[in-house]
Amino acid sequence: MECNYCGKEVEKSKGKMLVQSSGKRLFFCSGKCQKNWEKNRSHSYPDKEE
Ligand SMILES: [Zn+2]
Repeated sequence: MECNYCGKEVEKSKGKMLVQSSGKRLFFCSGKCQKNWEKNRSHSYPDKEE
């Protein structure tokens, strides 16, 4: 799979997986990419927190 943030190939054993409440799975090559993605998401969806 590819990192949902930077698009790099992610190794299953090394990458980070995030499961959204909708059931969609997101993969990140590193915690850094996950953090950046979360930042961007909260930027795009300011009302997302429930
Ligand atoms: Zn990445």
